[in-house]
Amino acid sequence: MVPQTPQLNGHAGEQEDLFASAMEHKIADLPNGKTNGAHPELAELDASKLTITLADPAARAVPDEITANAGNETICTDHMISCTWSHTSGWATPELKPLGPISLHPTASVLHYATECFEGLKAFRGFDGKLRLFRPNLNANRMLMSTLRISLPGFNPTELEKLIAALVRIDGPKWLPASRPGSFLYLRPAIIGTQAQLGVQAPKEALLFITLSFMPRLDAAVGGMKLHTNPEDMVRAWVGGFGYAKVGANYGPSLLATAEAKERGFGQILWLYGPEGYCTEAGASNFFLVWRAKESEGGKLQIITAPLDDKLILDGVTRRSVVALAKERLAGEVEVVERKYTIDEVLEANNEGRIVEAFAAGTAYFVTPVSLIHHRGQDVVIPMANGDAGVYTNKLKGWMKDIMYGNEQHPWGVVIDGEA
Ligand SMILES: *Cc1c(COP(=O)(O)O)cnc(C)c1O
Repeated sequence: MVPQTPQLNGHAGEQEDLFASAMEHKIADLPNGKTNGAHPELAELDASKLTITLADPAARAVPDEITANAGNETICTDHMISCTWSHTSGWATPELKPLGPISLHPTASVLHYATECFEGLKAFRGFDGKLRLFRPNLNANRMLMSTLRISLPGFNPTELEKLIAALVRIDGPKWLPASRPGSFLYLRPAIIGTQAQLGVQAPKEALLFITLSFMPRLDAAVGGMKLHTNPEDMVRAWVGGFGYAKVGANYGPSLLATAEAKERGFGQILWLYGPEGYCTEAGASNFFLVWRAKESEGGKLQIITAPLDDKLILDGVTRRSVVALAKERLAGEVEVVERKYTIDEVLEANNEGRIVEAFAAGTAYFVTPVSLIHHRGQDVVIPMANGDAGVYTNKLKGWMKDIMYGNEQHPWGVVIDGEA
């Protein structure tokens, strides 16, 4: 198959590559971050053009963490970033401006056809007083992949990273002050299709926006998080679908099963796939199990998680980091295995006493110990050797925390300098 002309920045090209791999071609073909492909006349996303309109700093006081997370509304900081795109001119000048609602026509594409993708990452106030992001390049790259999957415009991910940093630089000192080391805020970049025209088509207008907000700490459910496998007649994602993209369309339909499980005391759904019951993800986080392999298979201690190659699961930044740290720092002790495995294998391991620990991993839930999996009338009770978590769960979490909060200087912890 010959790679086709990339169709970036949302332009419909002459040749359409209808294979799922088209998107990979699109990304691979980006020449030096130029995302307009056959349309170089369109303006690129350019963070260096950012205009800044400041809010009145005295208008809003910063609540403490508990108050901020107590209500039914996400408390955002003073500013947001926004940037429009159109198919005739490309990306407009990005703006940092006072936080406020956005206005959409009732016929806007996103409201009817779910042309929306998003990212989620945290900004950390280190114990050394510095502000950091954790591997933000991976979020920016993933956002590009997601946006192209749903025919929204492409961009140079480095420019998105710079815009994210700009918002943290301006709002960090007030909202994530040096007097609160060990705390974090949550960044939510999103792109939506805004063209006001009904008709199922790639939007000719779009909006990128970024907010910075409070988010509750979700990584320490008392007694560990309990997972319930999905109802037999529901799946989260499917081969050939878009489970690997962070698009809004993946989440609304999962809420029904999640709400029901939550009512019954479970934290998240463990989504299984196919008649084999492959374990995939736990809600909006990746899922890891530590177990001892069968004696017939060597009996080694393994940390196992679902693979990325069938594109069912989200390629989590936390997941990648857990895999990399375990390979590097637990080498010789625990083997890292990325492969398909079924719920029946988990039940069998449970019956044979081979399960050691389990955890969910993602930005929101960070590394959350899992204490139980309920599947069709059976309970898998998972040991928590340290009381509130397993030994390896705690090690991995501790290493990442040290990088996030500057206790360990590491290339993954990206310092935001030049705070306002
Ligand atoms: C965001 C998300 C994750 C976690 O990804 P991180 O990059 O680690 O935050 C995992 N699964 C799903 C479905 C997600 O939406």
